[in-house]
Amino acid sequence: MTVERKMLSWQQARELILGLSTPLGSEVVGLDDALARVLVSDITATRQLPPWDNSAMDGYAVRVADLREGVPIPVGGTIAAGHPSGHPLPPQTAMRIMTGAPIPDGADAVIMREDADEHDGQVTFRRIPRLGHHVRQAGEDIAVGSTVLAAGSLLGPGELGLLSALGRLLVGVHRRPQVAIVSTGDELVTADEVPQSGQIVNSNAHCLLGLTKLGGAQGRILPIARDRPDELMRCFGEAFAADVVISSGGVSVGDFDFVKEVFSKLGAQERFFRVAMKPGKPLVFSTVEHRGRQTLIFGLPGNPASSLVSFELFVYPALRRLLGHSVAQSAHPVATVRLSEPLRPDRERTHFTRALVSRSPTPPHELWAKPLSVQGSGMLRSLVGMNALIEVPPGEAVLPVGSELPANLLSSI
Ligand code: AMP
Ligand code: MG
Repeated sequence: MTVERKMLSWQQARELILGLSTPLGSEVVGLDDALARVLVSDITATRQLPPWDNSAMDGYAVRVADLREGVPIPVGGTIAAGHPSGHPLPPQTAMRIMTGAPIPDGADAVIMREDADEHDGQVTFRRIPRLGHHVRQAGEDIAVGSTVLAAGSLLGPGELGLLSALGRLLVGVHRRPQVAIVSTGDELVTADEVPQSGQIVNSNAHCLLGLTKLGGAQGRILPIARDRPDELMRCFGEAFAADVVISSGGVSVGDFDFVKEVFSKLGAQERFFRVAMKPGKPLVFSTVEHRGRQTLIFGLPGNPASSLVSFELFVYPALRRLLGHSVAQSAHPVATVRLSEPLRPDRERTHFTRALVSRSPTPPHELWAKPLSVQGSGMLRSLVGMNALIEVPPGEAVLPVGSELPANLLSSI
């Protein structure tokens, strides 16, 4: 069977792509540039947290054995955060202590201010605490030598906070994919030009750049490539140096659709062509070796909705995998949604229907999907105000309101 004749299911296509996508090499970045990156190696704590016993409350540091219910004891001073007491807690005495201040030697509990009455330098407690009450113990959060973050962890704001507390200013993360975006078509002009007869703006480039950024990668829009083999050879020859190439247009069966042929002429290996889905059927995926790595080449169809949908289903997971996410974490999350309007499936192909998914405000708070009324693959309006792609299997019968279907929940800003 030739590659052309074999039409893959979208699942097979994604599996094949992920099988050829491996995390990129590492680089060291500053802590504040590490957001949304994936760690290449484990992080081991070289400090303990908290560094010393400290108070969890504004209150009084006490020695429990010194206390009798309702019997006042003198207040021997105040310990503020950032100002350790220079001396141990004197016997039969309490010290005022603030949240985060070091517990003085000799104290073994903190009583919150709300449970104490202080008058004329004497304090009475309403309750005798248990040992260790409201004391945050040294190392109870993070012990020295413990693995705090494993290789493969995604660095979110919480992880960055933790790394900073450990004094890790530099971290080793997977490199971000460099993505070359190539739009092909004799009809295209750049967005700053006024289209003349027969011309349209290269809108795909801007949509694909936005998608690339949301996918965590660095995109570059290359000059528009005209529908001529020699020009396509030149453009893609340059683009193939990137980690990922995303082209749009020229992969169908038109007289001027040379993209597939040019990929092969440039030495790329075609992995599949055509996926049994709507929109986005003509889609070519190839790879080429560049500096010991496989450049991933996605020849997306030119229709704006087709290129967006195929990006979300195939390019997004590949970018995330290159960034270091696990295969399981690479694709968009899928949730079961219910249709808020009836929907007619495509007879032959899985239809990725653009929809707006929202959670019902009343219990049981299900996810409801409102399919956009415009679904034409050439319609730019069909890309606006949506946040999900409902996976509608092929069929004859109209799906009624309330039907349950899987939906790919797309990333938001
Ligand atoms: P193609 O896949 O080249 O046959 O193009 C299919 C449709 O998508 C045609 O109507 C093209 O004009 C349109 N199209 C192709 N490339 C772009 C682009 N970069 N931006 C907007 N529309 C495009
Ligand atoms: Mg074209």
